[in-house]
Amino acid sequence: MKVARFDYHVHESRSRDARESTIPLYIEVAESKGIEEICFTTHLITSGPDVNLGIRDHEIGGYINEILELNETTEVHLKPGLEVDYIRGDQSRVERVLDEYNWDFILGSVHLVGEWDVGSRKRSSGFFDGRPLVEATSEYYYLYIEAIETGYFDMMSHPDYWRRYLHKMHAEAAHWGDYSDTCIEAIDTLKSYDMGVEVNTSGRRHEHEVQYPIRDFMVAVHDAGIVKVNIGSDSHLPEHLGFWLPEAVEMLKGIGFKYITSFSGRKAIMNPIDSVVRTVKNG
Ligand SMILES: [Zn+2]
Ligand SMILES: [Zn+2]
Repeated sequence: MKVARFDYHVHESRSRDARESTIPLYIEVAESKGIEEICFTTHLITSGPDVNLGIRDHEIGGYINEILELNETTEVHLKPGLEVDYIRGDQSRVERVLDEYNWDFILGSVHLVGEWDVGSRKRSSGFFDGRPLVEATSEYYYLYIEAIETGYFDMMSHPDYWRRYLHKMHAEAAHWGDYSDTCIEAIDTLKSYDMGVEVNTSGRRHEHEVQYPIRDFMVAVHDAGIVKVNIGSDSHLPEHLGFWLPEAVEMLKGIGFKYITSFSGRKAIMNPIDSVVRTVKNG
């Protein structure tokens, strides 16, 4: 079977929505599937309704130390990273945490738009309610652009995560041409900050069964001349490690991308796309 050599979006037990998913359990899966590198991206959430899902300040040292210590016990390369929720307002905690520790990778995310959590079955409906879809998506991308402009992040995650519960509110699928204008603004901003985006395969496990973002979005990323793209399963369970990543790489290759990015000490490593997926015997 085919596996991608690395997975750059993985939640372990300090993300409170992945409480049972310890780092040793992920190592076991990586060893058995033949995955060579895991970058852990536990949630850092500074305010809002999901604040309790994120890592606590007093846990951060232990999180990084556990990763570094377990690195010595396995062939799998383990890297410490974060998925930081961009929430408008006071950024002092984000700045302090990014400054104080040696991270390999910082992923920026937009889950919360005002009071609406687009990733929540219960709390996403108000995001779409009573207004045209394009108004909602524009609001999402303006926040996404703000997140990019902070300069805090190495890459931005799941660029159309607002689609997660869209099907509950809109009977018809969203058409790229109807909402692409602000996507393209966001893509141009990524380009000007020399940043890239993640293809997040959790969408393939969600009800609509499409990765984040849709292929059209990645075509626009490619057309804009962005060369940095990375891949992540957004695993909250060890068995999801590496999920649909070979297929994501194949999709990106078909669009014309030449590299998949990984990170070390927050510096991008450009991996030739043909080196990222390999065939293993017993995966
Ligand atoms: Zn996320
Ligand atoms: Zn995540």
